[in-house]
Amino acid sequence: MVFIGIFGIKSSDEKLRDVDFECTGCLSNKVELFTFRKVFHFFFLPIITLKKKHSIVCNSCKSEYELKEEKMEEVLLKGKVRYEDVSKIIKEF
Ligand SMILES: [Zn+2]
Repeated sequence: MVFIGIFGIKSSDEKLRDVDFECTGCLSNKVELFTFRKVFHFFFLPIITLKKKHSIVCNSCKSEYELKEEKMEEVLLKGKVRYEDVSKIIKEF
């Protein structure tokens, strides 16, 4: 956490669920879906979410893919990510 006086910006991630996706790095299909948030804090109270994104991380090779926000509802419902749901590859091994 970076503090500027009594203000601060905190990053957090939260695992939502396991999803089905064939990793392009290692061809494993065990990936986990995460929500990443950057929240502005004041006296340890979360005030405003500055940034929120969803990404999936491969269990075997740790490749990371950012997902399209408009596809999130469908992904959460079906537990399945297709290649067209990925907006960009963050890390690929
Ligand atoms: Zn992989």
